[in-house]
Amino acid sequence: MWTYRSEMDAIEDALRLARGMTYKYAAAGVNLGGGKCVVIGDPRREKSEMLFRALGRFINRLGGIYLTGEDVGTTLREMEYLRMETPYVVTLPASWGGAGPIGGATAFGVVQGMKACAGAVYGGDSLEGRTVTVQGLGAVGGEVVPLLVKEGARVVVADIDREKVEGVTGRFRVAAASPDEILGREADIFCPCALGGVINAETVPQFKVKIICGSANNQLREERDGQAIEGRGIVYAPDYIVNAGGTIFDTDRLNPGGFNRERAMTNVARIYETMSSLIRISREERIPTYRAADLLAERRIEAVRKAKGLAAGGEMRL
Ligand code: NAD
Repeated sequence: MWTYRSEMDAIEDALRLARGMTYKYAAAGVNLGGGKCVVIGDPRREKSEMLFRALGRFINRLGGIYLTGEDVGTTLREMEYLRMETPYVVTLPASWGGAGPIGGATAFGVVQGMKACAGAVYGGDSLEGRTVTVQGLGAVGGEVVPLLVKEGARVVVADIDREKVEGVTGRFRVAAASPDEILGREADIFCPCALGGVINAETVPQFKVKIICGSANNQLREERDGQAIEGRGIVYAPDYIVNAGGTIFDTDRLNPGGFNRERAMTNVARIYETMSSLIRISREERIPTYRAADLLAERRIEAVRKAKGLAAGGEMRL
């Protein structure tokens, strides 16, 4: 839900997001993707039970070819309103039969991606003694910190919300930096868990790290920033690869027999292998990691298409 300036802006965003979903799910091995819906309106002022119930009735008319979930501007509360009208809602509280909050699974996936990057950069995937700067201590960043502390990493955190910083520094032995200095701070790994566009022409020269791996969506302001960061010798973990943990966790309940936490978390842990294999592709094919991620997704989509063709009596050439 967003305050789009025009209907055309909303349509363009829905199409861009739908494409993003296809790539994210394909790379994660979840056989869904290709759809997104957006609601035009101000999430702070214009949300109502009836608006979302009306949307739920519309989604229901699609008969299950489209499943929806929580995203920018919505919370589990709106998912409940949708669920009153349609079963085609994935993200739900546990009390409504869903997997509940997904920030912890997203954070776990990010740390798996980080370990894979460390393996490629340092020759060993341990995070012990590595300095990690974490930007943003919300649903994901707040869960990344305890995982990093458990791994023995030295953690430096920053958030524009002082209460969140105090909460985290009060509970764990971590240092704090100001939101302005976190980006240029010398460290092994930078973990962006706040806003998109954090890697851009202005910030690329400022980074003093070897790895960038975090949950924030759309970290590259432009594709060429992915090239530039690679040019500086920094390994960039593509956002939609390492932040897929919540999605993988959330959609587990669509399997026959319903949600199984152990299976869900085992699948989230595979982000390690996915990240390792795309660093390999990137090195072998001499392409930036963000492009290797797209290739990985495109190859899977193509392979699945061919497998389906084979089942329909076609010829399979993989
Ligand atoms: P959130 O809103 O709970 O937390 C974001 C935090 O970043 C807040 O504490 C906010 O104060 C802080 N912040 C904002 N601007 C900042 C700045 N300039 N410097 C430092 N801190 C700043 O969001 P979240 O759910 O934790 O998600 C974080 C990012 O990860 C978003 O980009 C989101 O799209 C992405 N993501 C989240 C999930 C998930 O499971 N929640 C899954 C995939 C991707």
